[in-house]
Parts: sequence; structure tokens; C-alpha cells
Amino acid sequence: MDSQSNSPHVLIFPFPVQGHVSCMLKLAELLCLSGLSVTFLNSDIIHRRLLRYTDVVSRFSRYPGFRFETISDGLPPDHPRSGNRVVDIFDSIKMVTKPMFREMLLPGGCLNSGKRPPVSSIIADGIMCFTIDVAKDLGIPIFLFRTVSASCFWAFYCIPKLIESGDLPIKEDDEMDRLLIGVTGMEEYLRLRDLPSFCRASDLSDRAFQVVTTETQETYRANGLILNTFEDLEESALAQIRNHIPNLYSIGPLHANLKSRLEAKLTSPPRSSNSLWEEDRTCMTWLDKQAQKSVIYVSFGSMTLLSRNELTELWYGLVNSRKNFLWVVRPNSVAGDGQNIPPELLEGTMERGYMVRWAPQEEVLAHPAVGGFLTHSGWNSTLESIVAAVPMVCWPYYADQQVNSRLVGEVWKLGFDMKDICDRIVVEKVIKDLMDTKRDELMRPVDRMMKMARRSVAKDGTSHGNLNRLIEDIKTSKK
Ligand code: UDP
Repeated sequence: MDSQSNSPHVLIFPFPVQGHVSCMLKLAELLCLSGLSVTFLNSDIIHRRLLRYTDVVSRFSRYPGFRFETISDGLPPDHPRSGNRVVDIFDSIKMVTKPMFREMLLPGGCLNSGKRPPVSSIIADGIMCFTIDVAKDLGIPIFLFRTVSASCFWAFYCIPKLIESGDLPIKEDDEMDRLLIGVTGMEEYLRLRDLPSFCRASDLSDRAFQVVTTETQETYRANGLILNTFEDLEESALAQIRNHIPNLYSIGPLHANLKSRLEAKLTSPPRSSNSLWEEDRTCMTWLDKQAQKSVIYVSFGSMTLLSRNELTELWYGLVNSRKNFLWVVRPNSVAGDGQNIPPELLEGTMERGYMVRWAPQEEVLAHPAVGGFLTHSGWNSTLESIVAAVPMVCWPYYADQQVNSRLVGEVWKLGFDMKDICDRIVVEKVIKDLMDTKRDELMRPVDRMMKMARRSVAKDGTSHGNLNRLIEDIKTSKK
């Protein structure tokens, strides 16, 4: 057995997509820093990409108790695993991966072979509740980690109530701007339009809708729920969730929590990336040449698929705003065949824009030249923007993003919500508002929230304390 043979051994198992893997790796590193042994279970495909584009293996080699293991996600290698096809992973992972996962944990399996102490607790992605069945069967305590905001989790949790009240499924003549009373605590601002995108399906048989609803309802069966958020940001949603799932750990923003703990241990923590695409660092040199707060950063995360028309409207809006922009256009992120970017857009970009296929986003947002973020409102991107004090224009694509953008625009006042609109005139106006006209009024809440986020991960902060409690609970949880 290795040098940490007596320390508790945690198995971390993320759902295999960028946003989930990346923040669960951060959690893994936080647990390693506290001396726990950690095994991180990746899908084969994700692991190959991490090896190809990051230094994750050498980075984690400084933690003697850390190991990677891999498992199949059950899909053929050429499956796109993005856009609305992500839902296929839910089915394959439950059918194909679940029995393999169980096998790994049994005596003689790769996670129980006698070389390392057996797994004493599991932290699994909260949208893979089949892991609870396996853990309970084998008598291993299990905590679930959900990568969405607390508010979104709570909206998902209330779906059965919305079905009962007749609010769902949405009917053709429904007013999308009607407020919902079924999501307690959010009645004053949550409209039908702001529900997670899966709720827009015309009937209740939509696969993504069913999966997310069922998985959320199952959460209570785990020993606890971990959320990447902080009390000052989502106090009310957290309070609602605690009424149903009392053992709740809000430990975010995770990237800031990790940074704070690494800085406490190392004088200059190394740069770290968990990207599944190659980061193009030339954009940092381009940013160095731009004036302070002059650039709008544009990125729609790892799964958004833009139509050609949406790409064109967003691009005209940006160019007509006369602001400089740094735009991430991920490979295969524009619908249709062939070249992603129409040549006329590429030419026009030369003047005031810079495009990359993937950027070191956390560093970009922290760069002094970046003054705004046109985002799809993915939860990681939202938290990264909050910590960097960058105001947002939100153009949510799907899943939880509809809820997040409403909070950003209406509740926290950290930017503008451009939900369901993709029109060059609106884009131009909203960018000018963000960067010039309404900037001063935006920056007050933006700076205030940045300070609260940073305070939450500092010593004595709530997220710092909740992480310590999680670590203690893992250490004392018995098989
Ligand atoms: N990201 C990045 N470079 C890019 C675009 C995105 O590093 O060019 C990272 C970003 O920092 C975030 C993650 O990818 O941590 C995207 O997660 P999010 O929850 O925002 O959206 P998703 O990809 O899950 O839709």
C-alpha cells in the first residue's frame, strides 16, 4: 500500500463533460491538499483529451495519494457528445457504465485490489444517481456534487409541483413572461421563460426533462449534497433546499476556493488548466496590447451550438458596437458543414476582434483589458465572471443557463439578460450599455459581489468553513 494507506480514500466520479470534469477536478485537488487519498474516475474519452491538452497528470503527481482511473461512457467513439446529443450519455452511462462501476468497487476490482485502501466514501456527480444504489449496496457513504447553481437545483426540485399546478408542460398559449408561484422563494422574478430549457419541451416525455427531474428528486438518498456556490450569493435558494436536504455543503466558487488554499501553501502556485481543447494563449498577448476594460470577451462554453444566423447576428452586433472583442469559436460549435466561420466575418474581425478556438478563460477574465463578458451563462462561467468582477451580457443556450441569466440580470444586477433574443440591433445596444452607458450603475453590485465571493473562500468565510466540514465528514464517515 502507498504512503497514505491510512488516510480515507475518496472516489470522485464526474459526469463526462467539460464543465463537470473541470470543477470536480478542482474539488479533487482541494481534498488532496487536506491529505485525503483521492481516485478520480474519468471516462476514457475525457481522460485522453485531458492527457492531450493539459498537464493534469504532472500537476497531480505532487499529491502521493492521488490516482486517475478510467471507465467507458458506453458510447461509440464518434458520438458527438455535445448539444442536444449530450442526453445520450445519461442512458449509456446508466446501462453500460453502471455495472462496470460496481465491478471496480468489488474485492479484486481495480478500486479494491489491496494495493490501496478500499474506497471509504464516494463523491459522485448528482446527475448520476445510479451511483447511490451501488454505494448503498456496498455500504459506502456517498455525497452528491451538483454543478448547477442552487437556484437552478431548486427550480429543478420544484418541477413535480409545477406539473401538479398545471404550469408544466408549457401550453401553446402560455404567456412566457408569467411569474411562477410554484418555485418558492423565487416567485417575484422567475417567469416561465426562465425555467431550465428542458421545461420548454411540449410534452413531459422529453428525455433530458425526465432525467434531470428524476435525478434531482433522488438527491435526498445520498449522505449529503455539495454545491459550487456561496451563501451570500444564493442564501434564499440554499435555505429552501436545506428544508429537504439538510446536509448541504456550499463550497464555491470552487476555483477561488482552490486558489486561496494553494496560495496559502505555495508562494507561486502553478498555472492550471483542465481544458478538453488546446488553449490558445496568443489571445493573452493580444489582450496585453488593449486598453484597460476596453475588450468584451465572448464565449458560449463547451457545448453550445450556434446556428449560422445566430453567429452572424451576434457578430454584427459586436462589430457595430465598435468595441474590441475576443471571441472563442470552439471547433464544431456552429451548425452546418464545412468551415465554421463565414469568411466575410473573419475578414471583418481583423479590425477590432481576435478569435481563438479555446481560451484560458479564468486568466482572460482576470486580465485588466477585459471589461465585459458575453456569455451563455454556464454556471462555471458565471462564477468565474463574478470573482473577476466582470459584468455580463447573458445569452443563455440551454439547461440551467436560463435560470442563471435571470438571476444575473434581475436579482444580482451583475449584467443584462438577452434571453431568447438574437438580433444585431439588440446586441449592439446591450454591449454599449454594458461597456459605457450603464457601466457605473453595474459596477457597484459587481464589485460588491466579487468581494463577497472572495470573502466566502477566505479563512472564516462560509465556503471555507463548509469545505472543512465536508473534509471532516469524509474523514469520519465509516464504511
Ligand atoms: N472555458 C475555457 N475556455 C474557453 C471556454 C470555456 O477554459 O474558451 C471553461 C470555462 O472557464 C468554464 C468551462 O469551460 O470553466 C465552461 O463551463 P460552464 O459551466 O460555464 O459551461 P458549459 O461548458 O458547461 O456549458
